[in-house]
Amino acid sequence: MTIVSNHLPTAELQALDAAHHMHPFTTNDELGERGARVITSAKGVYLRDSEGNQILDAMAGLWCVNMGYGRDELVQAATRQMAELPYYNTFFNTTHTPVIALAAELAKLAPEGLNHVFFAGSGSEANDTNLRMVRTYWAEKGQPEKSHVISRKNAYHGSSIGSGSLGGMSYMHAQGGMPIPGIHHIGQPDWWAEGGDHTPEEFGLARAQELEAKILELGPEKVAAFIAEPVQGAGGVIVPPSTYWPEIQRICDAYGVLIIADEVICGFGRTGNWFGSTTMGIKPHIMTIAKGLSSGYVPIGGSIVCDEIAEVINAVEFNHGYTYSGHPVCAAVALENLRLLQDENIIDHVNNVAAPALHNALEDLRDHPLVGGVNVKGMMASLPLTPHKESRAKFAMDAGTAGFICRERCFANNLVMRHVGDRMIISPPLVITPEEIGIFHTRAKLALDETYKTLKDGDMLKPAS
Ligand code: PMP
Repeated sequence: MTIVSNHLPTAELQALDAAHHMHPFTTNDELGERGARVITSAKGVYLRDSEGNQILDAMAGLWCVNMGYGRDELVQAATRQMAELPYYNTFFNTTHTPVIALAAELAKLAPEGLNHVFFAGSGSEANDTNLRMVRTYWAEKGQPEKSHVISRKNAYHGSSIGSGSLGGMSYMHAQGGMPIPGIHHIGQPDWWAEGGDHTPEEFGLARAQELEAKILELGPEKVAAFIAEPVQGAGGVIVPPSTYWPEIQRICDAYGVLIIADEVICGFGRTGNWFGSTTMGIKPHIMTIAKGLSSGYVPIGGSIVCDEIAEVINAVEFNHGYTYSGHPVCAAVALENLRLLQDENIIDHVNNVAAPALHNALEDLRDHPLVGGVNVKGMMASLPLTPHKESRAKFAMDAGTAGFICRERCFANNLVMRHVGDRMIISPPLVITPEEIGIFHTRAKLALDETYKTLKDGDMLKPAS
């Protein structure tokens, strides 16, 4: 079949991209030499590139396209809203119908007691809001020194200077003066990589108790909040052991420390409930939302805030906000997206169809000689690659080399799996069917086989000592 394209030849697009476009989290010079893959359209769970390849997107973009690509209802919601009211702000005693409806709908869907929404344009912005909000809350309650926030190593909360500081990515902290003062990081509950000979339950408890030790070190009167993803995403899909969250909840309750659950990935069905907090049994005071809120069709984020904090913040002028807080087009699309998630029973589809099929496919891949285990919760998963399954060994070569090779082999086989270090990450659109998961499985296995062969031929299967 001849492909008729409505764009420049791929090489020309790549050259223009290399000349003028600075990509996020990328060594742009290296990418410029290789040439970026140009995505031109998408439908369902498939992307199409400028060469006409159909690529199964097992990452839902960046963990966000929960409803899949090409949903006309979302296009129509944006079109209608753009025609009616493309923009107005919510700063100066004004509001508009999409933002009213969306805030009310989120209050309905959120766990009990979380009834107020502060909107932002992204997850990063929302976490910046959260940092200022919890500090303002305690200051207004006469405890301005209760301002420190505890987070976790390898957490991802965004890339602005506030949210990047809340995050625990050392390679991000190495650039640009992060973390800002008053933010502290404890260990993550990553049993696979760090649990040694402990059982997952022992390890989960020990990692949670690092929070108590840090609160006591700083003084409970100085600690405003603990922030965490219910299931760590960009850190490598780290599903905490069952003992972890109950102990964290106990500690936060005991010392009067607020819980900010970063639901940017876990929210809107990804873990089999509306929110990861429900799946993991957490009672948060604030939930960060973004990504799946609009299925990524338009940029929107926010903070869903509990009654107690809202009561204090609403009594003063909170000197904070964004031009696009509650943008009418984004709000209208998000609202339509929430309608689709509900009308099409997507959470039931996740629990009864998609997640069981994904789990089966991953269990089959567990037997692969390169795969060291399966981390999975609902529709988010990771496969750690290892040169030695029994000991969960890391590679002797630089971390991320095997993962990078595997990601390239995925691309070559028309599959998007991302790598975080040497873990392969899976987070497909929630609407994925069992047939499509079958295709994911075939392509993933092929990519793993090819990676294994490359590593074996290159004598790269040595474990770190
Ligand atoms: N929090 C979490 C848990 C995330 O995964 C992300 C994005 N990957 C963010 C916050 C930041 O969101 P954004 O990129 O929309 O700023």
